[in-house]
Amino acid sequence: MSELRELYQSVILDHNKKPRNFGALDAPSHRAEGNNPLCGDQLQVMLLVADGVVKDVKFEGQGCAISTASASLMTEAVKGRPLAEVETLFGAFHDLVTSDPKVEPETGDLGKLSVFAGVREFPMRVKCATLSWHTLRAALAEAGSVSTE
Ligand code: ZN
Repeated sequence: MSELRELYQSVILDHNKKPRNFGALDAPSHRAEGNNPLCGDQLQVMLLVADGVVKDVKFEGQGCAISTASASLMTEAVKGRPLAEVETLFGAFHDLVTSDPKVEPETGDLGKLSVFAGVREFPMRVKCATLSWHTLRAALAEAGSVSTE
């Protein structure tokens, strides 16, 4: 697990320092805000979905290194994917970060997202890692309507 831990730290540091797909999206089709009061993480996820595919996705907000890095990696992972695959990825990611830390992680098709197996050892951090994913799902559940509040 020590290799995974080192990878976890370097990927999180990198994505926290230089978050990918950070900023406002012009004319999003879906948008939601999420916050994790336990840590103080707040973010907004914006998507452009067309023909059942995530054409573009961006996020804004502020939070701890894990929530920012997770949002950054999530946007990279879901961009260009059909919505059904996004849902599958969410399930796999959620299973990974909530699995028993003593068990070898099931990383399947998670790619870079596998580094978040590291949060299993820190239950308080699981919400930081999953915040962007829950916000993404909330945005998609809005059925195309964008709240202007
Ligand atoms: Zn956090």
